[in-house]
Amino acid sequence: MTSPAFGPLRLLVVQPTPFCNLDCDYCYLPSRDDRSRLPLELLERTLERVLESPFATDDFTLLWHAGEPLTMPIAFYDEATALIRSVLARRDGPPLQIAQSLQTNAMTIDAAWCDCFERNDIHVGVSLDGPAFLHDAHRRTRTGLPSHAASLRGIGWLQRRGIPFQVIAVLTDDALDHADTLFDFFHGQGMDNLAFNMEETEGENLSSTLSRPRSEARYQAFLERFWERLRAEPGALRLREFDEIAGLACGDQRLARTDMNHPFAIVNVDARGNFSTFDPELLSVATAAYGDFAFGNVITDSLESVVESAKFQQVYSEIRSGVERCRAECEYFGLCGGGAGSNKYWERGTFDCSETQACRYRIKLSADVVMAGLERELELTS
Ligand code: SF4
Repeated sequence: MTSPAFGPLRLLVVQPTPFCNLDCDYCYLPSRDDRSRLPLELLERTLERVLESPFATDDFTLLWHAGEPLTMPIAFYDEATALIRSVLARRDGPPLQIAQSLQTNAMTIDAAWCDCFERNDIHVGVSLDGPAFLHDAHRRTRTGLPSHAASLRGIGWLQRRGIPFQVIAVLTDDALDHADTLFDFFHGQGMDNLAFNMEETEGENLSSTLSRPRSEARYQAFLERFWERLRAEPGALRLREFDEIAGLACGDQRLARTDMNHPFAIVNVDARGNFSTFDPELLSVATAAYGDFAFGNVITDSLESVVESAKFQQVYSEIRSGVERCRAECEYFGLCGGGAGSNKYWERGTFDCSETQACRYRIKLSADVVMAGLERELELTS
């Protein structure tokens, strides 16, 4: 029996290929030289499994992820879009929409890719770590070539075509003394919609450079400076981390990341049809303690059929217990909802725990900087 508390599905993460044309030194994915591709028949089965499940009750986003999605042919996305429309059209039940998005290193974007994004209404996110000296320190090809110039060329195509996009910049220890440089770079390049992902200890990346002594204090100073610049130059940039916290302070109910510990709010499917739920980062990785985190395969299993399996029950019960620890121990629980299981597992070897380095960076320090900044502004105006 499936719990009514599971779902609704908000995000379907589909891996079109594990392959990536880069070999970033902080990447968590283990199989990024694997050139296998998701067959369209498997995509169709995935969509059928998802749409017939009790979790698909509302509109959701299909995110092409967990490999470089633009190493697939353009025709794949044309055919995938046609398939999505056809599966939706023959579905019984109230109508719903599936929005598509992808996150790319942008290196191969050209006019033909821009046509594809427009034709198939695919929302684009790009990965760029700032100016070349920060970006190329970590984002290189397998033969060691830098990627910054190619990424900027691809982004230029998006800009000339007026295709909106968000930039995700991974912050490593190298970036922490360069708040002004990063602000000026992104603003100067006209990239005004920005998000920071902290380099995480996760999967193949066994140790984050942010674990170094004083990294957290330097990150706090970095964020404080970024906050000052944003408030001094309103409209220059939007930063996801500040928007989320400020939104909560103004009454928004939840952070999207809460979905990471809620069963079937996120469903992740790899290029072979294996599926998991909870964080997308749990897909395609294997661990000594749990094996892999595939709970089933869309060829043989419905989504809801795996709920009774011993593997799902073990992971879910430990994640729930970890969330309860967070609720009992952490004053930031109302902002965070208990964090992401993958961070807990990779940093502490279990889902059944509370604080991680990732949550100190992503939740606690960000919230402290935003709340202190808002309070200062209130004092000045009162
Ligand atoms: S901030 Fe960390 S310790 Fe607090 S609720 Fe979130 S994951 Fe748990």
